[in-house]
Amino acid sequence: MNGWIAVAGLGPGAEALVTPEVSAALAEATDIVGYIPYVARIAAREGLVLHASDNRVELDRARLALDLAARGRRVVIVSSGDPGVFAMASALFEAVEAGGDVADIRILPGITAMLAAAARAGAPLGHDFCAINLSDNLKPFALIEHRLRHAARGDFAMAFYNPRSASRPEGFARVLEILRQECEPARLMIFARAVSTPDESLRIVTLAEAEPQMADMRTVVLVGNSATRRVGPWVYTPRSAGAV
Ligand code: SAH
Repeated sequence: MNGWIAVAGLGPGAEALVTPEVSAALAEATDIVGYIPYVARIAAREGLVLHASDNRVELDRARLALDLAARGRRVVIVSSGDPGVFAMASALFEAVEAGGDVADIRILPGITAMLAAAARAGAPLGHDFCAINLSDNLKPFALIEHRLRHAARGDFAMAFYNPRSASRPEGFARVLEILRQECEPARLMIFARAVSTPDESLRIVTLAEAEPQMADMRTVVLVGNSATRRVGPWVYTPRSAGAV
């Protein structure tokens, strides 16, 4: 029997936001591989083996999936949101590049946190935008600062993933400091926490009002561009922009 690997995005949390393609792969799987809270979202069934592991062991997880597929198993590696956004798809290709068997691999997209959050708020990402992972696990903080400053100067709207963890609470305070140097105080920000889960909360503030503790690891933070504005309860960014 030929094994395969599907790297699947489970979306931001709600069952309704899991794509039919991902549900079909899960239904055919013999093995689920992933970070503990993501594997916990998969319903147990007869013949399905769940391999839950701690965070920060992405490469081990990818190697396990490659080994299982080489033995003929049908493996789904689960990520939250989209598997290509700060998640397992790149880790799997790193393992392949490092000499793993080139297996039958499919990447199944999911709804990433910034898009689910943007939809709740209105259309804050309706013009050019970028996504920045604020975790310095895999890159130096100086690079985060560099990209952040240039994105702000380029007047991109932004989405920040992994904004603030208990182990590096000072990083996000520094991010706010840089934004205050580069953007006007009335710049709109959205703190969207646990979007599409029962714990969901959405907070819309100006840059002047933003405080570091408004973000945690279940929050994605959106920053508008200089034209982003409110209309009724909504926040949106116009589709057009003038000359530089
Ligand atoms: N692959 C995921 C991102 C993984 S990084 C995706 O595409 O969404 C983990 C970060 O994603 C969290 O720290 C948080 O910033 C964001 N995130 C994931 N799910 C979220 C949700 N339901 N609501 C708000 N932010 C979320």
